[in-house]
Amino acid sequence: MGSTGSIGVNTLNVIETNSELYEVFALTAKSQVDKLFKQCVKFQPAFAVMLDSAAAVQLKNKLLDAGSTTEVLQGMEGLTFVAGHEQSDCVMAAIVGGAGLLPTLRAAEAGKKVLLANKEALVMAGRLFMQLAEQSGAQIIPIDSEHNAIFQCLPIDEQAKFANQNRQGVEKIILTASGGPFLNSSLTDLQQVTPEQACKHPNWSMGPKISVDSATMLNKALELIEASFLFDLPVEHIEILIHPQSVIHSMVYYRDGSVLAQLGNPDMRTPIAYGLSWPNRIAAGVKTLNLCEVGQLNFQAADADRFPCLALGRAAALAQGSAPIILNAANEVAVAAFLKGEIGFTQIPVIIEESLNVLEYKALDSIEEVLEEDNKARSLAQKLIFG
Ligand code: NAD
Ligand code: MG
Repeated sequence: MGSTGSIGVNTLNVIETNSELYEVFALTAKSQVDKLFKQCVKFQPAFAVMLDSAAAVQLKNKLLDAGSTTEVLQGMEGLTFVAGHEQSDCVMAAIVGGAGLLPTLRAAEAGKKVLLANKEALVMAGRLFMQLAEQSGAQIIPIDSEHNAIFQCLPIDEQAKFANQNRQGVEKIILTASGGPFLNSSLTDLQQVTPEQACKHPNWSMGPKISVDSATMLNKALELIEASFLFDLPVEHIEILIHPQSVIHSMVYYRDGSVLAQLGNPDMRTPIAYGLSWPNRIAAGVKTLNLCEVGQLNFQAADADRFPCLALGRAAALAQGSAPIILNAANEVAVAAFLKGEIGFTQIPVIIEESLNVLEYKALDSIEEVLEEDNKARSLAQKLIFG
């Protein structure tokens, strides 16, 4: 799901490296016809899905002309259909943002091995998502590099468990953060930041939305919430530590004083390969880590004044209920506006904070309620930006 994006392309790259082990059943994208067409010709999936209906017609015609047997579907219906299809056993959930929620939930409900890159789905509906997975027996493997690192640092027979009663040995987990492109920028400089500067991450190459999230550090706020749901840990046991080299991808502190970390070059093909092959290991095409070349591993505390998104994330995580939904929705609207040049970089946390202040936090029992609160928060953020 989301095969034309940064995670999608990296996933297909790992599959190509291990073509004797995997077969692609379906590929999906929003509207990039040419890119999805090329992927279909190469990987010959049974299904291709475009969210956009006009794009789906174009793709269908191109594939027919090329003599391909891939069947083209469209819309959210097509996405959820392939996500839950009985002929697939593993789903890479790599659609960006809240748009990925329903297909990701469908994959969990259908008992798939879910490779979870789409962190926004978990932030919006973490409790419901984990419940669905537990009921269906779906194995959730985090692909977000920090969470994948923590998963790798847990004992293998505990990785598949959902509740934390067997994790008494864990004292806390540390999510490392590169600090993004503006780690050392002053507050005044931050006010002048352009979308191009915000999308230029020092260590990782990613899609535009998560790149901006890394620059504001709202990404770490989402990851804090993501970790608390995935590992069933209270947010008080999750800390964030700036580590500019992005070599240590996260750490688990155990009660006996041991600290386990997972290291590697910053390349998403490592967590993707681990997810695909778990509990085994396959080649990922990633360069071997050379610690002499890296030279130093540095650490520092995050600066709350310049990165207010961190505190907003922790507050939303503690408040629970619909607060994480509001945080995520307001951020998606604000980031889209920033990328179009409609608001400044430092307005992103302001829109999120105002949204969290105005809307009432609710407890959520169904996916309909999640979608309703998400819609409400998006409309409010739009109003705050455009009046
Ligand atoms: P991206 O923007 O590069 O790609 C997004 C993909 O989703 C594309 O294939 C696009 O066609 C599809 N898509 C976008 N909007 C859609 C919609 N409304 N309906 C259906 N499909 C839609 O994003 P990315 O960087 O690959 O990130 C994907 C997800 O993985 C995000 O949730 C991100 O937070 C997470 N993630 C990414 C990285 C990374 O290194 N890129 C790391 C950790 C987590
Ligand atoms: Mg991450």
